[in-house]
Amino acid sequence: MIQKNKNKFIYTKDDVRLINSLKKFHYTDAWSHTKKHSKLTKIKLEKFKRRIKDFLLEKENYECSYCRKNLHGETYMVIDIEHILPKSIFKEFMFDVNNNLSISCRRCNAGIKKTDISFLKKINLKKISLNYKNRNFYKFIHPNLDDYYKHIDYYVSIKNKKKVIHYSKKTKKGYFTYKYFLLEDLELSHNSNIQNVKYQSKLSTSLSNKYEDRVNTLMRRAKNSRVRTKS
Ligand SMILES: [Zn+2]
Repeated sequence: MIQKNKNKFIYTKDDVRLINSLKKFHYTDAWSHTKKHSKLTKIKLEKFKRRIKDFLLEKENYECSYCRKNLHGETYMVIDIEHILPKSIFKEFMFDVNNNLSISCRRCNAGIKKTDISFLKKINLKKISLNYKNRNFYKFIHPNLDDYYKHIDYYVSIKNKKKVIHYSKKTKKGYFTYKYFLLEDLELSHNSNIQNVKYQSKLSTSLSNKYEDRVNTLMRRAKNSRVRTKS
């Protein structure tokens, strides 16, 4: 019944009916099941959100839209459906899967972005509402309107238990995203997550020589800083 291709979420008639029935609620109640909903609505809402999450995960290749963290093997509960324009301010786009929703790790969504809107170019809510599909209104890489890799190249290298991540910023948007999501903090982490090793190793083989050099420098630096901490 659900027709979808990799890039577009198709709403069923039931989805549309459900969304319409939720409009009368405060945004927190419209998104999460609360005592205000009937048992049937709760079930429908949970199923709908699960379908949204599965769709977005596949679309984003099981990576966080902002930091590219690999979400394979993560508990379902710590993977967030991310509202690019926060639902607390832009309730009207709360279920707009194709334009305003994406997938993110908890760090980027609940830890950093939260309900902030400083990534918007003009803080005039009405103007944003009218132009929310225009990528030029967003200072960071928009998960649905921009191509991430046009703005940032993402490199991962793993050697034994040491993992190095490198974000190569190519544009102003790439640079803003790097700063906004504190991606620098992830670059120097050198303890590999065992679950990620297999997947990340594949990536590391595609590193160009230039970035292998860069990665080796970072690994040396990480190693030196550890030595210093120990002494
Ligand atoms: Zn993330």
